[in-house]
Amino acid sequence: MTHSLATIFALSSGRGPAAIAVIRISGPRAGAALTALGVKIPQPRKAAFARIRDPASGEIIDEALALWFPAPNSETGEDVAELQPHGGRAVIAGVLAALSRVEGLRMAEPGEFTRRGFENGKLDLTAVEGLADLVMAETEGQRRQALRQMQGALGKRAEVWRQQLIQALALVEARIDFSDEGDVPEGLVEPALTIARTLADEIEAALSDGGRGERLREGLTVAIAGPPNAGKSTLLNRIARREAAIVSPYAGTTRDVIEVHLDLGGWPVTLLDTAGIRPTDDPVEMEGVRRARERAAGADLVLWVEDASAPDGGEEGHWPGMAGSAIGLAERSRMIAAGDVPVGNALVGGSRADTLAIWIVHNKMDLVERPKSLNERFAQNIAQHEPKDRGNGSFNRRASRKNESYADHNEYIFDISAASGEGVDALLRAMLGEAESFLAGTESALVTRERHREALEETATALRRAADLGAREDLLAEELRLAAHSLGRLTGRVDVEDVLDVIFRDFCIGK
Ligand code: GDP
Repeated sequence: MTHSLATIFALSSGRGPAAIAVIRISGPRAGAALTALGVKIPQPRKAAFARIRDPASGEIIDEALALWFPAPNSETGEDVAELQPHGGRAVIAGVLAALSRVEGLRMAEPGEFTRRGFENGKLDLTAVEGLADLVMAETEGQRRQALRQMQGALGKRAEVWRQQLIQALALVEARIDFSDEGDVPEGLVEPALTIARTLADEIEAALSDGGRGERLREGLTVAIAGPPNAGKSTLLNRIARREAAIVSPYAGTTRDVIEVHLDLGGWPVTLLDTAGIRPTDDPVEMEGVRRARERAAGADLVLWVEDASAPDGGEEGHWPGMAGSAIGLAERSRMIAAGDVPVGNALVGGSRADTLAIWIVHNKMDLVERPKSLNERFAQNIAQHEPKDRGNGSFNRRASRKNESYADHNEYIFDISAASGEGVDALLRAMLGEAESFLAGTESALVTRERHREALEETATALRRAADLGAREDLLAEELRLAAHSLGRLTGRVDVEDVLDVIFRDFCIGK
């Protein structure tokens, strides 16, 4: 394919100091670069001892290992040299400075090595994305998914689909050619339609995964919300076990949305502390409330925290639909859980309100005189919140929340003390159970990005249209071509210049 003339180099390992550093050089002058640094080109793919010298003064910069991967059997498809000097900052700076003085060499841009690999057909675009995700993966679940994607889980499947499409297209085109000659053989269009239908079924099945692959890649979002002073920041801090949010006895001090990334048993969960959502005239606070609403709107789960020690839930007025009314905690919880109170609406002010899953957290239980039965429940929380069966959690059945009775929701009411930590483990275990039941099906998820979803939806739509067009070969051929094109864009075979910059922008330099 293309050939890039410039030879590029970069530090591919993390910033020093470290025991060793990895500096890569790729391009037609990679070998010349080694020579310029006084390094003899090693046997291909065999580590060799090397003294790296400054090309101007001849001074030895460091002793290192050198590796040589001649084109085309390298990651970029070009000649690649790799130097592994000691990972001190001055060493790294010295080697990079020396390389920058070699003619025809320049520093690589972010993702440029991988981009060259892609342009030289070493990996398709879904594998490139998998590689980017692998570098960014923070949890086991994300790592596994990224690795599968890098190994071609989606790319290989898409290529098989594309080949079948091309076969269908060939049949239809043959039929069109024959019809010009007037002697039309039968049995060309029907097999093409069968292929189109089967492919549409397969692609639609891959798409109906509840968005799990994308959610695993990005992490589930849990928003901690509720009236000011209920103890949201205290809870977030308790969970994060660090001082992430300001804990203050004064209402409205947590103005921004603070987020904490958690690794819950291998599943990524982002916890958001939304500022006390309540009416306010303070412009700074209004901005906090706006951001809090926006973030909460995108959440998979809302932990609605209440101060159980305040009989009316603390300050009045933040209870949507019941400002000024003295409704007790238990009754309020019942109403929220049953969907009678538009908490979601107040929280996000929009159409997603109904689909938000909400768990109710009664906080400050340490201040509450508890009847014996409640004490028992508090103590038993642990037993109640073991991870549930797959696919049965509230994340994925949130759409039907409104139709469920209060009893169904009892399991989603938690009694805790954020201050002492009591009950917090049970809450976390329940969150882990939810995350697991929601994300555990991702082993088979092929779609991990919106880009994949769009391309596959386009393909499936064109295939369905094709399947309905039996008699019109010319239109049928056009739809099949469209479908093949969308699949080609997915793997980066065709017409992807516009998405390349976006994809490679997220890479680190040196990758
Ligand atoms: P936020 O406005 O909802 O974020 O509330 P904060 O986390 O800032 O807490 C408000 C006040 O309640 C602070 O003085 C906390 O120390 C206190 N607080 C929070 N959780 C608990 C708890 O479980 N028990 C007790 N006794 N006090 C708490």
